[in-house]
Amino acid sequence: MAITGAAELLAAWETGLGEAPVGRALLLHRTARPDVDTGRLPQLPVGEREADLFALRRALFGERMQVRLECAACGTDMEFDLDAGQLAGSLGGRSSASAPASGESVVRVQLDGWDVEFRLPGVADLQAAARAADPRAALLARCLVSAVHNGTAAAAGELPVPVQRRIAEAVEAADPGADLVIGVACPECGEATRAELDIASYLWTELDAWARDVLLDVHLLATAYGWSEPEILALSPTRRRYYLELCADV
Ligand SMILES: [Zn+2]
Repeated sequence: MAITGAAELLAAWETGLGEAPVGRALLLHRTARPDVDTGRLPQLPVGEREADLFALRRALFGERMQVRLECAACGTDMEFDLDAGQLAGSLGGRSSASAPASGESVVRVQLDGWDVEFRLPGVADLQAAARAADPRAALLARCLVSAVHNGTAAAAGELPVPVQRRIAEAVEAADPGADLVIGVACPECGEATRAELDIASYLWTELDAWARDVLLDVHLLATAYGWSEPEILALSPTRRRYYLELCADV
């Protein structure tokens, strides 16, 4: 993945400041996948998006991720390191470069005379389903491509539970990483805590801290040398750091 320039990242951050978490996640995904039309991004399978965001995170901030978690049993604050590379591996070993950008990924389930085709849910599907009275049924109806029972077309509401379960398994197998769960044992009480890692909000928090640091650098260098913001942002991080050290020494 090509590392996006500092100016583009700052622009994405500035836009995201006024957005809800959903909008921020989309901005990050757009940064991660400039090759895909923005309008199509919410339709990409959820697991593919998670893998894209992990790839962006590694490109921007490296392999080590610090995670804080509260023990579900005793409430102890746990802080530990995660390896973004290993996590990316657990996302089915699919790199964002080789992932299909079509977004039209369909799984097929055949069971008890049923023949069902189902589209892998994207973020747009999850959001729409979450607003419905019955999110499960809504998601099933949204992503059902076709359902035939003994040669007769059927609707999503007619799918028996075993078929629904088989669809869920097929989706999980085809799009791993849609739910990234980490498990940690508490050093105090030994109980294991499982938590979902929300890479979009994690990455946004990091980007926010990074952007505020960069703006401070721009302020210091502009004051010291009279350079413009684009000139300062065009410097490599190494040179920026070096000039900052020189300023501090004077
Ligand atoms: Zn504990």
